Amino acid sequence: MSEIGSIYSIYLHKPYSVNNQKTNYADYQRCNINFGAKQEPKSDISAKKIAGYALGLGAIAAGIILLKKWNPKPVKELAQHIDFVKADNIESAIKFAQENFGVKLRVNGQLKTANWINESLVNLSNKTKGKVLLPKEIKICKLSDNLHGKYNPFTRTVKLAENYFGKAFERDFEKVKDMGLLSERLITLYHEIGHGLHLTTSNILNEVLGTSRYKKIISGCRDDLTQYLGGKYFTRCEGEAYAQIFAKKMAEGKLPDSVEKVWQKIGGKY
Ligand SMILES: [Zn+2]
Repeated sequence: MSEIGSIYSIYLHKPYSVNNQKTNYADYQRCNINFGAKQEPKSDISAKKIAGYALGLGAIAAGIILLKKWNPKPVKELAQHIDFVKADNIESAIKFAQENFGVKLRVNGQLKTANWINESLVNLSNKTKGKVLLPKEIKICKLSDNLHGKYNPFTRTVKLAENYFGKAFERDFEKVKDMGLLSERLITLYHEIGHGLHLTTSNILNEVLGTSRYKKIISGCRDDLTQYLGGKYFTRCEGEAYAQIFAKKMAEGKLPDSVEKVWQKIGGKY
Protein backbone atom coordinates (compact mmCIF):
# COMPACT_ATOMS: atom_id res chain seq x y z
CA MET A 1 0.00 0.00 0.00
CA SER A 2 1.25 3.44 -0.80
CA GLU A 3 0.00 6.80 0.40
CA ILE A 4 0.74 8.41 -2.91
CA GLY A 5 -2.52 7.12 -4.33
CA SER A 6 -4.54 9.00 -1.78
CA ILE A 7 -2.49 12.18 -2.10
CA TYR A 8 -2.79 11.98 -5.84
CA SER A 9 -6.56 11.83 -5.61
CA ILE A 10 -6.56 15.07 -3.61
CA TYR A 11 -4.61 16.83 -6.29
CA LEU A 12 -7.14 15.67 -8.83
CA HIS A 13 -9.94 16.89 -6.53
CA LYS A 14 -11.45 13.46 -6.46
CA PRO A 15 -13.52 12.50 -3.45
CA TYR A 16 -11.61 10.35 -1.06
CA SER A 17 -12.81 7.87 1.49
CA VAL A 18 -13.81 8.92 5.00
CA ASN A 19 -11.51 6.20 6.36
CA ASN A 20 -8.44 7.89 5.01
CA GLN A 21 -9.55 11.45 5.46
CA LYS A 22 -7.44 12.15 8.51
CA THR A 23 -4.23 10.80 7.02
CA ASN A 24 -4.83 12.49 3.71
CA TYR A 25 -5.42 15.83 5.31
CA ALA A 26 -2.25 15.52 7.35
CA ASP A 27 -0.24 14.62 4.25
CA TYR A 28 -1.79 17.43 2.29
CA GLN A 29 -0.75 19.84 5.01
CA ARG A 30 2.77 18.45 4.91
CA CYS A 31 2.86 19.03 1.15
CA ASN A 32 1.80 22.59 1.65
CA ILE A 33 4.50 23.12 4.23
CA ASN A 34 7.10 21.65 1.88
CA PHE A 35 5.97 23.82 -0.97
CA GLY A 36 5.81 26.95 1.16
CA ALA A 37 2.10 27.56 0.74
CA LYS A 38 0.95 27.36 4.32
CA GLN A 39 -0.75 30.50 5.61
CA GLU A 40 -3.16 31.35 8.35
CA PRO A 41 -6.53 32.34 6.85
CA LYS A 42 -7.88 35.64 8.27
CA SER A 43 -11.49 35.46 7.15
CA ASP A 44 -13.78 33.22 5.12
CA ILE A 45 -13.10 35.13 1.91
CA SER A 46 -9.33 35.24 2.30
CA ALA A 47 -9.40 31.63 3.47
CA LYS A 48 -11.04 30.70 0.19
CA LYS A 49 -8.55 32.76 -1.78
CA ILE A 50 -5.62 31.26 0.07
CA ALA A 51 -7.03 27.79 -0.40
CA GLY A 52 -7.21 28.57 -4.12
CA TYR A 53 -3.57 29.68 -4.24
CA ALA A 54 -2.54 26.67 -2.19
CA LEU A 55 -4.35 24.34 -4.57
CA GLY A 56 -2.70 26.11 -7.50
CA LEU A 57 0.74 25.76 -5.98
CA GLY A 58 -0.11 22.20 -5.02
CA ALA A 59 -1.13 21.43 -8.59
CA ILE A 60 2.11 22.88 -9.99
CA ALA A 61 4.17 21.00 -7.46
CA ALA A 62 2.17 17.84 -8.15
CA GLY A 63 2.74 18.30 -11.87
CA ILE A 64 6.48 18.48 -11.32
CA ILE A 65 6.50 15.56 -8.93
CA LEU A 66 4.33 13.31 -11.09
CA LEU A 67 6.83 13.25 -13.90
CA LYS A 68 9.98 13.14 -11.83
CA LYS A 69 11.97 10.27 -10.52
CA TRP A 70 12.74 10.67 -6.88
CA ASN A 71 16.30 10.03 -5.97
CA PRO A 72 16.56 10.80 -2.32
CA LYS A 73 19.90 10.38 -0.61
CA PRO A 74 20.24 7.45 1.76
CA VAL A 75 19.82 8.54 5.35
CA LYS A 76 23.03 6.65 5.99
CA GLU A 77 25.51 4.88 3.72
CA LEU A 78 25.14 1.22 4.61
CA ALA A 79 28.08 -1.06 5.24
CA GLN A 80 28.45 -3.88 2.67
CA HIS A 81 28.02 -6.33 5.48
CA ILE A 82 26.35 -5.78 8.83
CA ASP A 83 26.28 -8.28 11.69
CA PHE A 84 22.99 -8.50 13.50
CA VAL A 85 23.25 -8.11 17.24
CA LYS A 86 20.19 -9.01 19.27
CA ALA A 87 19.43 -6.28 21.78
CA ASP A 88 18.34 -7.10 25.30
CA ASN A 89 16.60 -3.81 25.90
CA ILE A 90 14.59 -1.50 23.70
CA GLU A 91 17.07 1.39 23.92
CA SER A 92 19.84 -0.81 22.47
CA ALA A 93 17.53 -1.98 19.68
CA ILE A 94 16.64 1.60 18.76
CA LYS A 95 20.33 2.52 18.88
CA PHE A 96 21.23 -0.42 16.63
CA ALA A 97 18.72 0.75 13.99
CA GLN A 98 19.94 4.33 14.22
CA GLU A 99 23.64 3.53 14.09
CA ASN A 100 23.57 0.85 11.40
CA PHE A 101 20.77 2.08 9.13
CA GLY A 102 19.98 5.65 10.18
CA VAL A 103 16.42 4.40 10.70
CA LYS A 104 14.31 5.78 13.50
CA LEU A 105 12.35 2.95 15.13
CA ARG A 106 9.09 3.81 16.87
CA VAL A 107 7.69 0.50 18.07
CA ASN A 108 5.99 1.35 21.36
CA GLY A 109 8.70 -0.34 23.41
CA GLN A 110 8.18 -3.76 21.73
CA LEU A 111 11.60 -5.39 22.09
CA LYS A 112 10.96 -8.63 20.16
CA THR A 113 9.40 -6.66 17.33
CA ALA A 114 12.34 -4.23 17.30
CA ASN A 115 14.87 -7.09 17.17
CA TRP A 116 12.90 -8.74 14.39
CA ILE A 117 12.80 -5.51 12.36
CA ASN A 118 16.54 -4.99 12.89
CA GLU A 119 17.34 -8.53 11.79
CA SER A 120 15.09 -8.12 8.74
CA LEU A 121 16.85 -4.88 7.81
CA VAL A 122 20.28 -6.50 8.28
CA ASN A 123 19.29 -9.31 5.91
CA LEU A 124 17.94 -6.82 3.38
CA SER A 125 21.04 -4.67 3.57
CA ASN A 126 23.44 -7.62 3.30
CA LYS A 127 21.53 -9.10 0.38
CA THR A 128 21.99 -5.87 -1.57
CA LYS A 129 25.55 -5.34 -0.29
CA GLY A 130 24.42 -2.13 1.40
CA LYS A 131 22.85 -0.65 -1.73
CA VAL A 132 19.19 -0.75 -0.68
CA LEU A 133 17.50 2.56 0.10
CA LEU A 134 15.93 2.36 3.52
CA PRO A 135 13.17 4.54 4.96
CA LYS A 136 13.91 7.26 7.48
CA GLU A 137 11.47 5.92 9.98
CA ILE A 138 9.58 2.71 10.75
CA LYS A 139 6.69 3.10 13.12
CA ILE A 140 3.81 1.08 14.46
CA CYS A 141 0.56 3.01 14.35
CA LYS A 142 -3.15 2.73 13.70
CA LEU A 143 -4.06 2.18 10.07
CA SER A 144 -7.49 1.78 8.57
CA ASP A 145 -8.82 -1.74 9.19
CA ASN A 146 -7.69 -3.80 6.24
CA LEU A 147 -4.21 -2.35 5.83
CA HIS A 148 -1.11 -4.06 7.19
CA GLY A 149 1.33 -1.39 6.12
CA LYS A 150 1.66 1.94 4.37
CA TYR A 151 4.45 4.06 2.93
CA ASN A 152 4.59 7.82 2.99
CA PRO A 153 7.02 9.07 0.32
CA PHE A 154 7.12 12.62 1.65
CA THR A 155 8.38 11.70 5.10
CA ARG A 156 9.86 8.37 3.93
CA THR A 157 8.04 6.61 6.73
CA VAL A 158 7.02 2.97 6.75
CA LYS A 159 3.90 2.60 8.86
CA LEU A 160 3.09 -0.83 10.25
CA ALA A 161 -0.46 -1.52 11.42
CA GLU A 162 -0.99 -1.74 15.16
CA ASN A 163 -3.48 -4.59 14.79
CA TYR A 164 -0.91 -6.66 12.89
CA PHE A 165 2.43 -5.61 14.41
CA GLY A 166 1.28 -4.20 17.77
CA LYS A 167 1.10 -5.49 21.35
CA ALA A 168 -0.55 -8.82 20.43
CA PHE A 169 2.21 -9.53 17.90
CA GLU A 170 4.84 -8.79 20.54
CA ARG A 171 3.10 -10.98 23.13
CA ASP A 172 2.58 -13.92 20.75
CA PHE A 173 5.83 -13.47 18.83
CA GLU A 174 7.07 -17.05 19.41
CA LYS A 175 3.67 -18.46 18.48
CA VAL A 176 3.55 -16.41 15.27
CA LYS A 177 7.06 -17.61 14.47
CA ASP A 178 6.28 -21.29 15.18
CA MET A 179 3.18 -21.12 13.02
CA GLY A 180 5.31 -19.90 10.12
CA LEU A 181 3.47 -16.58 9.99
CA LEU A 182 6.50 -14.35 10.38
CA SER A 183 7.14 -14.58 6.65
CA GLU A 184 3.87 -12.74 5.90
CA ARG A 185 4.97 -9.93 8.18
CA LEU A 186 8.34 -9.84 6.49
CA ILE A 187 6.69 -9.49 3.09
CA THR A 188 4.67 -6.54 4.41
CA LEU A 189 7.76 -4.81 5.83
CA TYR A 190 9.78 -5.32 2.63
CA HIS A 191 6.80 -4.36 0.45
CA GLU A 192 6.57 -0.93 2.06
CA ILE A 193 10.32 -0.41 1.73
CA GLY A 194 9.87 -1.45 -1.92
CA HIS A 195 7.53 1.49 -2.53
CA GLY A 196 10.33 3.85 -1.57
CA LEU A 197 12.65 2.09 -4.00
CA HIS A 198 10.17 2.20 -6.86
CA LEU A 199 10.17 5.97 -6.79
CA THR A 200 13.92 6.01 -7.42
CA THR A 201 13.41 4.20 -10.73
CA SER A 202 10.03 5.56 -11.77
CA ASN A 203 7.54 8.35 -11.03
CA ILE A 204 4.27 8.83 -9.20
CA LEU A 205 2.15 8.26 -12.31
CA ASN A 206 3.62 4.78 -12.67
CA GLU A 207 3.40 4.31 -8.93
CA VAL A 208 -0.36 4.62 -8.74
CA LEU A 209 -1.74 4.03 -12.24
CA GLY A 210 -2.00 0.97 -14.38
CA THR A 211 -0.42 2.76 -17.35
CA SER A 212 -0.67 1.25 -20.81
CA ARG A 213 3.08 0.67 -20.78
CA TYR A 214 2.76 -1.36 -17.60
CA LYS A 215 -0.27 -3.27 -18.86
CA LYS A 216 1.66 -4.20 -21.96
CA ILE A 217 4.57 -5.48 -19.87
CA ILE A 218 2.38 -7.84 -17.84
CA SER A 219 -0.10 -8.71 -20.61
CA GLY A 220 1.31 -12.19 -21.29
CA CYS A 221 1.55 -13.24 -17.66
CA ARG A 222 -1.03 -11.26 -15.68
CA ASP A 223 -2.71 -14.36 -14.20
CA ASP A 224 0.53 -16.06 -13.19
CA LEU A 225 1.80 -12.82 -11.73
CA THR A 226 -1.42 -12.23 -9.80
CA GLN A 227 -1.24 -15.71 -8.34
CA TYR A 228 2.44 -15.48 -7.47
CA LEU A 229 2.13 -12.07 -5.83
CA GLY A 230 -0.93 -13.04 -3.83
CA GLY A 231 -3.87 -11.18 -5.37
CA LYS A 232 -5.12 -8.71 -7.94
CA TYR A 233 -4.25 -5.80 -5.67
CA PHE A 234 -0.58 -6.39 -6.46
CA THR A 235 -0.93 -6.32 -10.22
CA ARG A 236 -3.21 -3.29 -10.56
CA CYS A 237 -0.36 -0.82 -11.09
CA GLU A 238 3.40 -0.72 -11.46
CA GLY A 239 4.03 0.59 -7.94
CA GLU A 240 2.21 -2.27 -6.22
CA ALA A 241 3.77 -4.88 -8.50
CA TYR A 242 7.23 -3.42 -7.91
CA ALA A 243 6.82 -3.33 -4.13
CA GLN A 244 5.49 -6.89 -3.94
CA ILE A 245 8.02 -8.43 -6.35
CA PHE A 246 10.81 -6.72 -4.41
CA ALA A 247 9.43 -8.12 -1.14
CA LYS A 248 9.16 -11.67 -2.52
CA LYS A 249 12.60 -11.51 -4.07
CA MET A 250 14.24 -10.28 -0.88
CA ALA A 251 12.32 -12.59 1.44
CA GLU A 252 12.20 -15.76 -0.64
CA GLY A 253 15.03 -15.56 -3.15
CA LYS A 254 14.85 -16.44 -6.82
CA LEU A 255 11.82 -15.31 -8.81
CA PRO A 256 10.07 -17.46 -11.42
CA ASP A 257 11.40 -16.58 -14.89
CA SER A 258 8.26 -14.76 -16.07
CA VAL A 259 8.21 -12.63 -12.90
CA GLU A 260 11.94 -11.89 -13.19
CA LYS A 261 11.26 -10.59 -16.72
CA VAL A 262 8.56 -8.23 -15.47
CA TRP A 263 10.86 -7.17 -12.65
CA GLN A 264 13.61 -6.22 -15.11
CA LYS A 265 11.19 -4.32 -17.34
CA ILE A 266 9.76 -2.19 -14.53
CA GLY A 267 13.22 -1.13 -13.40
CA GLY A 268 13.84 -3.75 -10.74
CA LYS A 269 17.16 -3.47 -8.96
CA TYR A 270 19.11 -6.17 -7.10
ZN1 LIG B 1 1.63 -1.27 -1.59
